[in-house]
Amino acid sequence: MKLAGKTALVTGGTRGIGKAVVWALAREGAKVAFVYTSSDDVANQLVKDLELDQRVAAAYKADVKSRVEADAVVEKVIAAWGQVDILVNNAGIIRDSLLAMMDETAWNDVIQTNLTSVYNYCHAVIRPMMSARKGRIINMSSVASEFGNAGQVNYAASKGGIEGLTRCLATEVARRGITVNAVAPGFIETDMTTAVRNAASDKIKDAIPCRRFGKPEDIAAAVLFLATDDASYITGQVLKVDGGLTLGGM
Ligand code: NAP
Repeated sequence: MKLAGKTALVTGGTRGIGKAVVWALAREGAKVAFVYTSSDDVANQLVKDLELDQRVAAAYKADVKSRVEADAVVEKVIAAWGQVDILVNNAGIIRDSLLAMMDETAWNDVIQTNLTSVYNYCHAVIRPMMSARKGRIINMSSVASEFGNAGQVNYAASKGGIEGLTRCLATEVARRGITVNAVAPGFIETDMTTAVRNAASDKIKDAIPCRRFGKPEDIAAAVLFLATDDASYITGQVLKVDGGLTLGGM
């Protein structure tokens, strides 16, 4: 198993892509802690399911927008397991509307949940990772960072910010054995995309060279690769996992 003896922390681990990432890392032998906000029952059930599968897991209720809560979560994981070897900043939301109609709350919620959260958790883990002279940080971006999607100025700004942060932080910590990369999914079958998939499923599939939506497991496989020693010479990159959506072919 490629992650035996490693510990991982995943934000937004109870649903969608985050849940698939939790399973993928755990199945490769990592102890996996995850952060959630909504349902204690769902989080506790996931821990039970992982334990039934002989995996080691822990759930922490925290709002990723809060730096204080991020510090507390990381402190608890380190107290329990000694280190955070792998950080996956996955939690994210959409609050789509045209800018003319977008109120400050929709802007701030998306920027704070998607981008400030990445600062919060990177900041909390970076000193321990630098002391350990090893670490893997994987941030969840989106192909929306480079599309001009009407109604997504907040979301695209948050994901563009994540990609810039990823490159800069990668440069700062590479000599300490820490890699920092991003994964940019295309259209993935999760709660986040239910409405748009219901509204325009065939039209979207026609634009995807692979002619299907991605599954959370497609993204988890990329995250897993970036978390392993196989990816130790890859840093500061944005890996698109989009079935060819951004290739721009006809
Ligand atoms: P999802 O199914 O809606 O799940 C979102 C996750 O984020 C949930 O686990 C949720 O936790 C967590 N979360 C949201 N706000 C939070 C907060 N304030 N504090 C802590 N956790 C919070 O979304 P998804 O589709 O899996 O998306 C995961 C990531 O991939 C996001 O960053 C998203 O932008 C990105 N992405 C998704 C797609 C796609 O097609 N689905 C495409 C590109 C990028 P609770 O359940 O506890 O609320």
